[in-house]
Amino acid sequence: MQKTVLIVGAGLGGLATALRLAKKGYKVEMIEKNSQAGGRLNQIKKDGFTFDTGPSFFSMSYEFKEFAKECNINLPFKYVELDPLYTVNFSDSPKTYFLYKDIKKLAEQFKDIEPDFEQKMNKYLKKSGRLFHDTVDLVIKNNFNSIFSYILTLMCVNPTHIPVLFRSFWSQVKQNFSSKEAQQIVSLVAFFLGRTPFDTSAIYTLLSYTEFEHDGYYNVEGGMYKIVEGIVDELKKENVKITYNTEIVDFIGNSKKLDYLIDKQGNKWAADIILVNGDAAVFRSRVFKREKYSIEKLDKMNWTMGYLTFYLGIKSKLPQVNHHNYFLGTNFEQYANNVLQNPDSLQKPYYYVNVLSKHNLDCAPEGCESLFFVCPVPNLKYKPNWEDKDSIVDSIIADFSKRINKDIKPEIISKTIYTPIEWQNQFNLHRGSGLGLSHNMNQIGAFRPANFDEKYKNVFYVGASTIPGAGLPMAIISSKLAFERIEKLAEKS
Ligand SMILES: Cc1cc2nc3c(=O)[nH]c(=O)nc-3n(C[C@H](O)[C@H](O)[C@H](O)COP(=O)(O)OP(=O)(O)OC[C@H]3O[C@@H](n4cnc5c(N)ncnc54)[C@H](O)[C@@H]3O)c2cc1C
Repeated sequence: MQKTVLIVGAGLGGLATALRLAKKGYKVEMIEKNSQAGGRLNQIKKDGFTFDTGPSFFSMSYEFKEFAKECNINLPFKYVELDPLYTVNFSDSPKTYFLYKDIKKLAEQFKDIEPDFEQKMNKYLKKSGRLFHDTVDLVIKNNFNSIFSYILTLMCVNPTHIPVLFRSFWSQVKQNFSSKEAQQIVSLVAFFLGRTPFDTSAIYTLLSYTEFEHDGYYNVEGGMYKIVEGIVDELKKENVKITYNTEIVDFIGNSKKLDYLIDKQGNKWAADIILVNGDAAVFRSRVFKREKYSIEKLDKMNWTMGYLTFYLGIKSKLPQVNHHNYFLGTNFEQYANNVLQNPDSLQKPYYYVNVLSKHNLDCAPEGCESLFFVCPVPNLKYKPNWEDKDSIVDSIIADFSKRINKDIKPEIISKTIYTPIEWQNQFNLHRGSGLGLSHNMNQIGAFRPANFDEKYKNVFYVGASTIPGAGLPMAIISSKLAFERIEKLAEKS
C-alpha cells in the first residue's frame, strides 16, 4: 500500500525530500509555519522591489544537478557562475579586491604586498583540495548509525590530515600567507559557516578549495527564491499539498511510534512516516520536550552567530558597487574574537552587501536598486535586546555611503530590518542563530542531532542542524540522506 509521509517545514531540506519521496511513489503532505515556502531561503516582495532574504549564492552546483537527475526532472531554475566570486574592501584603503577564480589574476592584486601570492595560494589550495576529496564522500555524504561506525569511518580518512584537527582555520591560513590582507581575505569563508576563522577547525579550509577551484559559487537567475518556486511547482505536479500558517507544537505517541502531531490550533496530523525539517535540536526540545534538549542544554551547545539583515530599495543606481561585496574594518582579529558574544563589536560592524538588481533587473523598478545587507552579530544569548537596531542600521548605511562615495540615505524608499529576534521567531531558530548548530568536531557527523529519532521509529529529520550541516548544497545532501533512511524503513515494514 502507498505509504504516507508528513513533512513539517517547507525549507529547502523539506521541499527537496518531498520531491524525492513523491517521485518514488510516497503520498506526501507538507505543513509550514509561515505563509510561504522556503524557510531561510526566502523572499520579500515590497514597494515594487524583490529581495532575497537569506542565501545569496551557493557552492557545489553539481549537488543540485544530481538532485534533479535523481528526481527525473530538468533543474527548475537557472544558475550563473560568479567570477569574481565577490569583492572585498578594507576601511583603511580605497582599493577593492576582486576574488577571481583565476589565481594569476587574483595574485596580480597582491603583487605589492605579497609578491609570491600565486605560489602560496596554489600550495594552500592543493592541500585544501586533498582535504575536500579525502572527506566529502566518506564523512559528509554518509549516514551513520552509531558513534562507533562514525569513528571507524574517520579512521579511514588519510592520516596525513591529522595535524589540521589541532589547528584553527586562521592558523592554517597564517602558515600560508604573510600579509594581513591575504590572511583576512582567504579566511573570510570561515564566516560562511556562521563562526569565525579563529574558532573554526582548519579542516574547513577545504571550503577555500570549493570556492576557488572545485566548483565556485553560483547565483540564480531572477533571484535565489527561484529555487523554491521551481521545486514547489514540481511538487504541485506530484499532487503534494502544502498547508501554510500551521505550526506544530505538540504530539501524541506510544512507546515506539509517533501517532499524531498537533498544531497550534489543536488539529491532529498523522502519517505513516513523519519528516521534520524544523531545526532538529529545537524540534526535539520544543515539541518532543526531550530532557537532552532542554533550553538549558540547548544553551550549552555551540550555536552559530546571529545575523542582522536589512533590505533597502533605493531610487537610484549604484554602478560603483558590484553584485557581492564584503566591507571589512581595520581590526579583524579583535572584531572576529568579539563578534560572537560581545554586542560592542557592533560599534564598527563588518558587513556584506548584495545588489540583487545588478543582474536581475526585474527585482527593482527602473532606475532603482535592490540592496540586501548582512551583518554578523551576537545571537540572542549574548545580545537579547535589539531596541538599538535602527541606530546600528543607520551606522552601517553611513559607513557604506562613505565607502562608495554616495549618500544613499536620502535615496531609500523601502526598508525592512530582521534582527536575530525576527530570524528566531519566523523560523524557530534557537536564540536567532542564523545557521543553526555550529560545525565544531563534537557537533558534526554522528555527534550532530541524528536524522532519525531516538524514540520513534517513524520519525526522521532533514536540514541544517542534522547531518551534514548548514548551507544550500548541504540541505540537498541532507535530503538524500533522510530519503535513504525512509526508504530503509519502508523496505523493512
Ligand atoms: C542571513 C543568511 C544568509 C545565508 N546565506 C547563505 C548563502 O549565501 N549560501 C548558502 O548556501 N546558505 C546560506 N545560508 C544558510 C541556508 O539558508 C540554510 O542552511 C538553509 O536554507 C537551511 O534550510 P533548511 O531546510 O535546513 O531549514 P529552514 O530553511 O530553516 O526551513 C525549516 C522550515 O521549517 C519551518 N518550521 C520550523 N519549525 C516548525 C514547526 N514547529 N511547525 C511547522 N513548521 C516549522 C520553518 O518555518 C522553515 O520554513 C544563509 C542563512 C542565513 C540566515
